[in-house]
Amino acid sequence: MHAGSEPMPHAGQQSVTQQVICDLLAREQVGIQTYGDTLRTFNGRRALVDAYQEAIDLVQYLKQEIMEREILERKLQYALIALATIYDMYGQVCEEYVDCTHQSCAASYGAWATADEARRAIRHLDGERRSDGDPA
Ligand SMILES: [Zn+2]
Repeated sequence: MHAGSEPMPHAGQQSVTQQVICDLLAREQVGIQTYGDTLRTFNGRRALVDAYQEAIDLVQYLKQEIMEREILERKLQYALIALATIYDMYGQVCEEYVDCTHQSCAASYGAWATADEARRAIRHLDGERRSDGDPA
């Protein structure tokens, strides 16, 4: 991911705003348990300095996540290519595969069935995204 290269957004899945509201309320409870009160004005701290220091941490966490996702996305691509290869190449069995006891047929079918199950699960997740408005 590189800055400035994002496409226009389209209809997506979950409401981020609703989740942020839930997180804010949960965070308030943590504050009350920790400090005995919710965050209030004129509490003796310089909010701008607190916010600035937390923004520095935020930038680092964001960059960490971007860097980690780039690696995870590359790993996922390798795994998806391997899955497609297994699905396309290793489902071959002998003529009597229904009744046969060949270890190689069982292994080949097992690999194919495992790849098929994973591909179905991935398609199911893609379908959930589409049913929530994703046009892809
Ligand atoms: Zn066989």
